[in-house]
Amino acid sequence: NADMAMYHAKSQGRNNLQFFTAAMNAAATERMEMEIELRQAIETGQLELHYQPQICAHNGTACGVEALVRWRHPQRGLISPLSFIPLAEETGLIDPLGAWVLEEACRQFAIWRAADAPVLRIAVNLSAHQLRSPGLVAQVEAVMTRYEMIPGELELEVTESVAMSDPEHSFETLRALRNLGVQLAIDDFGTGYSSLSYLKHLPVQILKIDRSFVQDIESDENDASICASILALAHSQGLKVVAEGVETAAQREFLSVHACEYLQGYLFGKPEPPEVCLGRLRELSSAAASS
Ligand code: C2E
Ligand code: MG
Ligand code: MG
Ligand code: MG
Repeated sequence: NADMAMYHAKSQGRNNLQFFTAAMNAAATERMEMEIELRQAIETGQLELHYQPQICAHNGTACGVEALVRWRHPQRGLISPLSFIPLAEETGLIDPLGAWVLEEACRQFAIWRAADAPVLRIAVNLSAHQLRSPGLVAQVEAVMTRYEMIPGELELEVTESVAMSDPEHSFETLRALRNLGVQLAIDDFGTGYSSLSYLKHLPVQILKIDRSFVQDIESDENDASICASILALAHSQGLKVVAEGVETAAQREFLSVHACEYLQGYLFGKPEPPEVCLGRLRELSSAAASS
């Protein structure tokens, strides 16, 4: 970190100090440049949403999609959310970014619904900052009204660490969202450290098992038993489960045997732009109908 770099630099003399200071300045400058660029990206429409199918495990039909944001940078190409969501969180840019994502996802969903596309709900990720924002509930309500969304059509995903930080306030916000008819999902379940007794009090309906546990289900007995335990726990609490990152038929089989309700992963489709995703949704549904 910067303090350590300073310390070593000082202990090694003036030239090193200058070197490290320059390196730190460069990093800070790059960050500032990226912040300015991201702000412009939001304003000039460089963000786009890709959509990934979620299927019903018991019959293989598409039931929902998750909206995942990307940044189409004019020079650097398509940038992963993993490299700009954290910056957006730190700088507060997540507010306009998150508002755009919610609006765009619901707009796309309304188009699909009008076209009778085989998709029953849309899942949108919420960041920590958004969950703390006092305007969130009104914002969600306005979007739902604008796109005439009925209860169950919009799902919001929050990670367990987000839901558990400042639990009292989170519970209250989640409950208000729930009252609007929003489905709530805990994302990346198993990676944070939430006590299971807290979970009981959260007004959520869905748990998403993190991809890291699904990945080695076939080869790692610990991961297999973690997945089975999460499923048993969730079901005992009346929750439904989405498994993330399903890539193989064997993973699908294991999860189906353990009564996992929904599956999401490259086995069924990658996140794709809306037109490509729609084609995939239709394929999944016709394959399910003919099997
Ligand atoms: P997440 O919400 O847990 O989303 C699932 C991630 O797993 C996505 O990565 C998806 O592309 C990837 N994935 C799905 N199936 C598979 C699979 O079978 N194999 C592999 N290897 N990966 C799979 P992505 O799109 O890069 O998004 C990363 C994270 O960025 C998301 O994790 C979410 O936390 C965050 N994110 C994305 N879009 C948004 C957004 O609009 N708002 C906020 N706040 N966060 C977002
Ligand atoms: Mg998610
Ligand atoms: Mg996840
Ligand atoms: Mg994940």
